[in-house]
Amino acid sequence: MRILVTALIALSVLIGLVSPAQAAPAWPNVKIGANGPAVLSAQHLLRHRGYNITADGDFGSGTETAVKQFQTASGLTADGEIGPLTWPKLIVSVQRGNNSEAVRAAQVQLNRYGYGLVVDGDFGGGTHTAAVAFQSANSLESNGVIGPITWQALVGGTPSGGGAFSLPLARGDLPRSEYDDPHHDYPAIDLPVTNRPAYAVVSGTAYRINDGATTGCGYGMKIITGGVEYQYCHFSSQAVANGQAVRAGDRIGTTGNTGNSTGPHLHFAIKINGARHCPQNFLLAIYDGRTPPAPSSLPKTGCFY
Ligand SMILES: [Zn+2]
Repeated sequence: MRILVTALIALSVLIGLVSPAQAAPAWPNVKIGANGPAVLSAQHLLRHRGYNITADGDFGSGTETAVKQFQTASGLTADGEIGPLTWPKLIVSVQRGNNSEAVRAAQVQLNRYGYGLVVDGDFGGGTHTAAVAFQSANSLESNGVIGPITWQALVGGTPSGGGAFSLPLARGDLPRSEYDDPHHDYPAIDLPVTNRPAYAVVSGTAYRINDGATTGCGYGMKIITGGVEYQYCHFSSQAVANGQAVRAGDRIGTTGNTGNSTGPHLHFAIKINGARHCPQNFLLAIYDGRTPPAPSSLPKTGCFY
């Protein structure tokens, strides 16, 4: 009987009687060295399952160990990578009334799509409304229950309007309070770190800046997308080729102290047609898991002294 039903469904699809559901987006593959919201959600889900790791969005050795233990306990190959076999076992269905680390994982994902939720683990009315809106926008059953299909659409999907975002540094490298500091002289920000990995904040095309060891930007990178330039200065080394396509969260270099710099730091700036816009609110939104404001809406004054 089951074979007959399967055959009938297959035949119906073939001749167009039943339109097949839109293919779900592929689960991302995340492993050691990765950072960003998929990592943060996976960490919250691991915490939900009792693994006492830090949920900081950085896939380090502690997270890898937890993933391997979870895979072994789940009958999976313990390769430490969270891919299409591990995600379905890791996710937890959540809905209104739940209060858990799994809800935090879902809130992190909903915020990739601009819902601006507080990531507090409390699945209240606001999270329910966001879940229903996301399901409706993706032609899913819109009941507000985040089950396997909605989870895959959330984690695997790409937000329209530019894609995901990443902090320029590992989340654990600096506290939130460093991302709102004013710059000297003009709109930009100086992030005080020494020889730390730097990441693409957006997806785009990366270009090398080579001002030399002691002048200007030193060795840096700029990422250009949609007419907006995201500039990084004072690297000790560049990690991608000139003109290379990068995705948000890709490592593009290592911070340093090259160029016109008085001490190790990452200088970060956002420019549109040569005009500098204050990056602080952009970075704070990413830090908070909110969708950042459009760069063109960022102020040009008030972030420097
Ligand atoms: Zn600076």
